[in-house]
Amino acid sequence: MMKTCPECSSSEIISDLIVFTDEMLAGQLPAYVQLAEPEPEKTPFIWIPKSASSGLRAAVCGECGYTRLHATNHAELLQARKQGYESRPNGMSRLKA
Ligand SMILES: [Zn+2]
Repeated sequence: MMKTCPECSSSEIISDLIVFTDEMLAGQLPAYVQLAEPEPEKTPFIWIPKSASSGLRAAVCGECGYTRLHATNHAELLQARKQGYESRPNGMSRLKA
């Protein structure tokens, strides 16, 4: 976790901030990162890839605004990456016609 700012050396760090990306109306959906398993050679009729995801928390320097992101579920992300999981859009589910 960021204790001092790497830009200005301030210790006035505002940490553990949720990073929002949404419109207020739709319900607040924080930003996240996700890795999904690679598509198999022979894809079944219905294929729902397994995935690992993590929320992000921001730490903002109160003096200069420098911001660092921290993944809350980094251990699971690392395991997924070691198994060849990829970061790609629409990794949730897919229906093959
Ligand atoms: Zn700073």
